[in-house]
Amino acid sequence: MTKQIAVLGSTGSIGTQTLDIISRHPDRYRATVLAAGSRVEQLIEQAREFRPDLAIIAREDLHAQLRDALAPLGIDTACGPHAMAQAVTGANVDMAVTATVGYSGLEPTIAAIRAGKDIALANKETLVVGGEYINRLLKGSTSRIYPVDSEHSAVYQCLAGERRDTVRRLIITASGGPFRTWSRSAIARATAADALRHPNWHMGAKITIDSATMLNKAFELIEARWLFGMEPDRISAVVHPQSVIHSMVEFADGAIKAQMGTPDMRLPIAYALGEATRHGDVSDFCDLLQVGTLTFEEPDTERFPCLTLARYALERGGNTACVINAANEIAVAAFLEGRIGFNDIYRTITSTLEAMPFVAAPDYADYVATNTEARERAARFVNNLNHSL
Ligand code: MG
Repeated sequence: MTKQIAVLGSTGSIGTQTLDIISRHPDRYRATVLAAGSRVEQLIEQAREFRPDLAIIAREDLHAQLRDALAPLGIDTACGPHAMAQAVTGANVDMAVTATVGYSGLEPTIAAIRAGKDIALANKETLVVGGEYINRLLKGSTSRIYPVDSEHSAVYQCLAGERRDTVRRLIITASGGPFRTWSRSAIARATAADALRHPNWHMGAKITIDSATMLNKAFELIEARWLFGMEPDRISAVVHPQSVIHSMVEFADGAIKAQMGTPDMRLPIAYALGEATRHGDVSDFCDLLQVGTLTFEEPDTERFPCLTLARYALERGGNTACVINAANEIAVAAFLEGRIGFNDIYRTITSTLEAMPFVAAPDYADYVATNTEARERAARFVNNLNHSL
């Protein structure tokens, strides 16, 4: 039987690569729901090719264009902020690939868990913002989460067949991003164009900036904490510039297992779609002789202070990571527009953290309120920075 897939964020980097895997394996997968934020023309093109039951555009002003294009093909359309959450609960969805950017992934993921649908989780912000809450929901659901993030897929693959009580440590690898070898003063002057030149991975703009600040790695440590139920002090990050080892697990007997391969997101995507099974025609093979050398470095928290936010968020708990995520989304957007400097991203996050009230045990409504207020405060901070430039 073909698995029915809802691709949320279908026009983004992970979304298009997910559709690539689906198109290569039509006997296994069918895209029944496609959802995009604002790239309506690309969404129309995808719907013409994949013939989903439903196509969703988040921006309501673009809905007429989508509907007019797809109605003749008998494809339903929807719009608005809650359309994804509604769509993933349908009988025509077995698994939701959550590949939207940022906070927007939280609501449809919660809806999918409540409806007992499996999730291929590409939106790490969901677990960053509400990991503890999501885990509570999962306990009462048949829904399973398969990680798409390459590091977490690697850990998942390393854990296969192993007893959890023999795991000593998760070692999350980091490429180090485009500024790995840059001096502090050069980083302070870095532009969006510099930050978007990632050495190993071709990704969307938001995650590329997050990987330049290394907040992406901080988020991945938080994601690993909730995904694998590991205590924070047993999750570490190591810089591995070649991006061939996608992460590792260390065991009680001293063994370290690593998952390796070319840096190609289609591998973790296919592994998640296949519910932790492998199939062919996925990614290019890795030529180890071409790679030659694998190296490891300690992450530098002086030049990349965002990395320290993982431990801070995990120790403080509550709505802390939700605040960090919201402030970061505002700061990254401002940096991409050239409105603030690179180091202002960290400043925006810390000043927003200082200003926000702490909520110890947030429920969904608290996350919504925290996200809204933190974004407002961060936007004000960014505007003040902007005026003082
Ligand atoms: Mg990753």
